[in-house]
Amino acid sequence: MALCLFNSLQRRVEAFTPLFPEADAIGFYCCGPTVYDFGHIGNFRTFVFADLLRRYLEFRGHRVNHVMNITDVEDKIIRQVAATGLSLAEFTGKYTDAFLADLATLSCLKPHHLPKATDYIPQIIDLIERLEKRGIAYRAGDGSVYFSINKYRGCGCRYGQLVTLDPEAQRQTERVSGDSYDKDNLADFALWKARVPGDGVVFWESPWGEGRPGWHIECSAMSMALLGPSFDLHLGGEDLAFPHHEDEIAQSEGTGLQQGGRPFVKHWVHAAHLLVDGKKMSKSLGNFFTVRDLLNKGFQGREIRFLLISAHYRETFNFTLEGLEASRSALARLDSTVAQLTERAGAANPDNTLAPSPFEIAFTEALDDDLNVSKAWAVIFDWVRETNAALATGSLSPAAAAERLHAWRRVDGVMGLGARPQEEAPAEALALLEKRNAAKAARDFAQADAVRNELKALGWTVEDSKSGSKLKRL
Ligand code: AMP
Ligand code: ZN
Repeated sequence: MALCLFNSLQRRVEAFTPLFPEADAIGFYCCGPTVYDFGHIGNFRTFVFADLLRRYLEFRGHRVNHVMNITDVEDKIIRQVAATGLSLAEFTGKYTDAFLADLATLSCLKPHHLPKATDYIPQIIDLIERLEKRGIAYRAGDGSVYFSINKYRGCGCRYGQLVTLDPEAQRQTERVSGDSYDKDNLADFALWKARVPGDGVVFWESPWGEGRPGWHIECSAMSMALLGPSFDLHLGGEDLAFPHHEDEIAQSEGTGLQQGGRPFVKHWVHAAHLLVDGKKMSKSLGNFFTVRDLLNKGFQGREIRFLLISAHYRETFNFTLEGLEASRSALARLDSTVAQLTERAGAANPDNTLAPSPFEIAFTEALDDDLNVSKAWAVIFDWVRETNAALATGSLSPAAAAERLHAWRRVDGVMGLGARPQEEAPAEALALLEKRNAAKAARDFAQADAVRNELKALGWTVEDSKSGSKLKRL
C-alpha cells in the first residue's frame, strides 16, 4: 500500500505521489509561527503534526525538503512593535528563538529552511509586479496594492479551491486591508499595504512607495522561492485554509509561473485544532498553555509530544492536564519495556539483513492509512504487551531482544519520543540506597531486600558493581 492522505484540495483521501518523481526531494511547506508571543501548545499541535508527517515520509523512503516560514511582519506584530518601542528585529528575534527552542523541546526535527518574511521583500515585490502586469493586482486610493478576485477569475482561474464559497459571498464588492477575515466577507485582499502612521519604523521602499507586505503574499513568495512554483505538500492548521491558503493559491497561480498544467501545490493537508473545554485553544480566548507553562509544571517535552500525537490530525482534540498525566503513564510503560529490552540485549547486535518485523509492517499499514495514529498506538501497545510477556518468561535471547529494540528504534524514528532522559534520583531514594548499603554491610540481607522493595515502589532499582552500588530508573 502507499501512503494515503486527505487532500483538502480534492476533499478526499488519496495516495501521496510526488509531483516530480525524478526530483531529489519532496517540496514540503508548513506555515510557521507569527512571532509576536510564545507559541501555545495548540500551535505546536500543528507543528508536531508536520514533524510527524515529515518523519513518516522519510521512513517511507522519500527525501523531504522541509520549509517552515517565520512570519516576522504582519498586523499583530506591527501593533506590538509600536507598543514596545523595540525594533522589529529585536522584538521578533526574541520570539523566534523561543519558538525554535520549544520546537526542539518537542523533539521536532529542524526544518531544512526557516525563511523569515522580512528577508524576502524583493521576491514579494517581484510577485506583486507580475500580478500587476497581468492586470490581477491594482492600486487603491490609499496607495496600497490589492488582489482583484474578479480579474483573477476572468483569467480562467478558480477562487474557492480549498473552501466552498457560498454564491452570495461570491458577489464580492469590497476590499479588506486586514490580514485576517472570514469567508462571509469575501473581498479583494491587500498584497502591499501603504505606510500609515501606526506602522512606525516598519516599512520598505517599493515601486508603490513605502509600505509593507500583506501576510498572504509572504508565504507565496517564500514557498516558491525555495521550492519552485509547483511543489508537493503544503500544511497548516485548519483555520488557515481560508483566507490564508486560498489567497496563497490565488496569488501564486495568478502569476502564471506554474508549468505544464501543474498546480501551485498538489497536496494540501490541514490539521484540526487543539481545544480546551470544547473551544479552540487561542491567545484571544486566554485558554492556552505554552510549552514553558507545562515544563514548569514538571512535564517533559516528550510527554507533551506524546499527547499531541495521540489523536488523529483531522480530529479536534481536547487538551486537559489529566490527559497529559495519562500520556506520562503510557510513556512510562513504553520506557520500561524499552529499558528491559536494552538490558536483555546487552552487547548483542541485531541482524540488519532481516526483513521488517510484523510489528513494523503493522505500524506502516496504520500510518499509510491517512496517518492513523490511533491504529499505530494500538500496534505499539500490543507490541509492548507481547514483549513484556516474552521478557517475563525469560525466553527472549539477547539477539531477539536486540532485534526488537532495532524495530522499536525504527518506529520511534517516526514517533520521535527518543530515549528516556537520565533522571536524578530524589533524596528519598538516595536515603534508601544508603540504608540498603548499611544493611548489606551488616549482612542483614532480609533488611537489604526489604529496602530494595521500597525502592522498587518508588520506581528505582539498585545496580551493584565493583565500584559500588548505584540507582537506576525502572
Ligand atoms: P499563528 O502563529 O497564529 O500564525 O499559528 C501558527 C499555526 O498554529 C497555524 O498553522 C495555525 O493554524 C495553528 N494553530 C493555531 N491555533 C491552533 C490550535 N488551537 N490548534 C491547532 N493548531 C493551531
Ligand atoms: Zn502561510
